[in-house]
Amino acid sequence: MGRRQDRLGVAEKFEIMHLYLHIPFCRQACHYCDFHFSTNTSNKRAVVEAIAKEIILRKDYLPKENIETIYFGGGTPSMLEEAELDLLLDTINQHFVVAKDAEITLEANPDDLQKEKLQQFYSAGINRLSIGIQSFHEPHLKFLNRIHSAGEGEICVKTAQEVGIRNISIDLIYAIPAPDHGILMEDIQKAFALDISHISAYCLTIEPQTAFGSWLKKKKIQPIDEEYAAQQFEILVKTLAKNGYEQYEISNFARNGHYSQHNSSYWKQRPYLGVGPSAHSYNGVSREYNVSNNARYVEAIRTQIIPATLETLSPADQTNEYLLTGLRTKWGVNKDKLENLSGRSFRSTHQADLEEMMRRNWITEDSDNWYLTDAGKLFADRIASDLFIDGE
Ligand code: SF4
Repeated sequence: MGRRQDRLGVAEKFEIMHLYLHIPFCRQACHYCDFHFSTNTSNKRAVVEAIAKEIILRKDYLPKENIETIYFGGGTPSMLEEAELDLLLDTINQHFVVAKDAEITLEANPDDLQKEKLQQFYSAGINRLSIGIQSFHEPHLKFLNRIHSAGEGEICVKTAQEVGIRNISIDLIYAIPAPDHGILMEDIQKAFALDISHISAYCLTIEPQTAFGSWLKKKKIQPIDEEYAAQQFEILVKTLAKNGYEQYEISNFARNGHYSQHNSSYWKQRPYLGVGPSAHSYNGVSREYNVSNNARYVEAIRTQIIPATLETLSPADQTNEYLLTGLRTKWGVNKDKLENLSGRSFRSTHQADLEEMMRRNWITEDSDNWYLTDAGKLFADRIASDLFIDGE
């Protein structure tokens, strides 16, 4: 029996709750990334201790205390030392009841995943890894300023499988400039050869507050070619489908039902608690956004204050968020839920728009839900925003 079974409480009967922990450190800044992280690790221990304290301060944020998914995101959570991960997991288990079969995911970078570290993660209870591979092609990794090599990407997946972590997701980035689609095909084939059960595929985007953003402004790089990006997306979707991967969310593909339970909870608008600098929380009626600054976060938590900004969600906000996330999934959006969230007759006010979208073969329906078609998935955000409702 591993330590996880020793330390986790047993939930006999529970309502679902989800917990996100943001670990805001990276060894090196990737050129495309605008997440909150710092490469200065001098206060890592203080931040981790503050996150543990926040877990205690926020234990009553949601009415139920039973946890079904835990997600260590970042940043680079695989930079956590054994004692730091233990502190966080022990704190969670002292203040919540974690379901026996909880999905516990840790985002990891290949350069951190040596055998000993993987064994530590596994025995601590991590049962799912989300590995930032991005590409198996060395020049692409250099272009993105990833710290790991192509070889490390492959080896870490095999080692994780050897130590017993079978539930592995990898991130791939597509639309990286290249003369043709050969490298993308090679990346996909590598993932198949490694027997990966889940793939998250993201289009390269150039965000203003990144190295790529500043180079674009100075015309040192070209913007991403939209047609090339659309072609790559189509190749991905078709190749993954042919090989048994279900596109259960626009950017997420799973074999044999290995969905991310944690991320699915966001897309289904389930409440969650997020702790750590820049983490968000959602309780069904409002969102809270923690400060995106490590030093200010630590200082506030030291004085027992949660450094969060509160946003109360109007019926229109809740409806529009549901459209934006729900339409991207294979579960679609539920007609009754839209009526309830919006507090008005969604069907009748949107009938003309919906009929036009069905005529264009962008959406389809059954008696309960509306769904995007494959053609509609290419315009998901536009379709959702065309269906948005106005109001406070
Ligand atoms: S992509 Fe991941 S590893 Fe790279 S800077 Fe962003 S959070 Fe850090």
